[in-house]
Amino acid sequence: MQNTRTTATDARNQEGAPRLTTAGLMRRFLGYYQGQMHLFVGDIACAVVVAGIDLAFPQILRTLTGGLFTQGADAILGALGYLAAGLLAMYAVRFACRYFVAYWGHVMGARMESRMREDLFAAYQRMSFSFFDRNKSGDLMSRLVSDLFDISETAHHGPEFLLIGAVEIVGSFVILGFVNVPLTLVLAAVLVVLTAYNLRANLRMKAIFHENRVRISGVNSRVEDSLAGIRVVKGFAAEDVEKDKFRASNDAYLDSKVRMYRAMGTYQAGIAALMGALYTVIVCLGGWLIAKGQMQPQDLATFALYITLFTTPIDNILNFTETFQKAIAGFRRFEEVLVAEPDIRDAPGARPLAVTRGAISYRGVRFSYDEGPEVLHGLDLAVEPGCTVALVGPSGGGKSTICALLPRFYDVEAGSITIDGQDVRDVTVRSLRQAIGIVQQDVYLFDGTIAENIAYGRPDATAREIREAARKANIEEFVDSLPDGFETMVGERGARLSGGQKQRIAIARVFLKDPQVLILDEATSALDNESERAVQHSLAQLSRGRTTIVIAHRLSTIKGADEIVTIDHGRVAEKGTHDELLARGGTYARYYRMQFGDGRTQD
Ligand code: ADP
Repeated sequence: MQNTRTTATDARNQEGAPRLTTAGLMRRFLGYYQGQMHLFVGDIACAVVVAGIDLAFPQILRTLTGGLFTQGADAILGALGYLAAGLLAMYAVRFACRYFVAYWGHVMGARMESRMREDLFAAYQRMSFSFFDRNKSGDLMSRLVSDLFDISETAHHGPEFLLIGAVEIVGSFVILGFVNVPLTLVLAAVLVVLTAYNLRANLRMKAIFHENRVRISGVNSRVEDSLAGIRVVKGFAAEDVEKDKFRASNDAYLDSKVRMYRAMGTYQAGIAALMGALYTVIVCLGGWLIAKGQMQPQDLATFALYITLFTTPIDNILNFTETFQKAIAGFRRFEEVLVAEPDIRDAPGARPLAVTRGAISYRGVRFSYDEGPEVLHGLDLAVEPGCTVALVGPSGGGKSTICALLPRFYDVEAGSITIDGQDVRDVTVRSLRQAIGIVQQDVYLFDGTIAENIAYGRPDATAREIREAARKANIEEFVDSLPDGFETMVGERGARLSGGQKQRIAIARVFLKDPQVLILDEATSALDNESERAVQHSLAQLSRGRTTIVIAHRLSTIKGADEIVTIDHGRVAEKGTHDELLARGGTYARYYRMQFGDGRTQD
């Protein structure tokens, strides 16, 4: 049995934030090019052709102007027709290649982004509850959307810019080396300074980009939190409080952006100053060399053209390094989630759960959330097959936690939980959760029709089965009274339905699933009397013949339970039937009196 505290803690650490080496990260990044090789090769080939043509143009111009001086105007006029045809053909090829790079190159990036998004979404689905306890959903959203966009831009522009840059810069140098050595050396010196400057600026910007990313996640989280709780916000007329909280995170984001743009501004201005110095030196030195007869005038023009050619790839590479920094930061966050192992997963050799009678047993269960205080301190609890056990007790006592451990939303730290003698950690998670039906207090309906929501766990269910489940949950009549019946859209999170109707749809869902074991978190406190009666009736129907653990909020509803267990501070305080507990005059009797004023039974 893997029921030691160490195992649980190790698993949690794994699901936290494992650090990845840059080399490992790059390997995984390159893996996403798989399946896109034809586009990648096409993209690169076209990029090289574009670079080659750009590189050839100043040479053509130089030859032309050089020819003017040496062979005279007539010879040039005769060749102009050929020159025009050649240039047109060259630029037609350039046009086609540019189109390929701009269109198919981006498509390649977008496809990689789409695959990454799918992988990340699958990873989110795989994660256990503790992961979602630790990570805010706004943050998880921004990883899925903005991070991946930067990554796809890098996947596409990275190789292309680097290659065009390399071909144009190296090519220019080689050609210029043949044209004039001293001027080329000046160029080389400036390039060294540029590279050093670039490296230094990159280091600075890396930290700023990281901060920027954290801040935008903060903004997303605030929006998400506020919209998810919009009913509470409105209920407390707390719009201004929300606006203030939002402003704080929005301002922090703006601050980090201002700092980012300041760094980028300084950086780009520095580059512009360096290029200005370069032009000044080239023109002055070139003029001097021409005056001295050591250089042809057309060579100086060639230099000027090549420097212009230089600046575009340098700019691109510099801009790209910015995107690259962002992408690396984003990809690291992406991979952190992808390589994380969920806390809760099948043990090696796990077999499907075989429910025969449905006996549940908790023995010596100890549990705490993450590194928090212990919530359950060696809890023992048994539910006989087909019986209903009601958990009562003060809020925070551990009732929901007891229920969450049965379907392994979390794992116990010590002790064990078994269903028909099988430890829940020794069976497959899927079979375990299929055998357990849960009706929660806070019902979540997905955006879609009522039928789709009822059939959520069983998309293959027939219309008849769905109707049957609705009938058992006492919601059929209501659904039929709607203009679109079972095809009625429930609205986002079921906003168009009342609390009681949502509850009964959730109950129909469980009827359709037909599990042998039930966990009911009574939602009755939020319902009016009539809805409560309808829901209670449906729940009673549902739990008939199934082993049931119910968290009871209203004591009037659980008098019929086979056993009532009072949970206090993570321990069983007392247990027995309603009458036994009343007669004992302990905690339960006190609760009962608190709800009903005296010890007499009410209905
Ligand atoms: P009850 O259902 O009896 O009200 P719970 O099981 O919800 O009690 O809570 C027991 C204790 O566990 C409380 O102190 C609560 O704050 C804590 N707790 C519950 N859920 C979480 C969670 N996801 N992360 C950390 N602590 C939690």
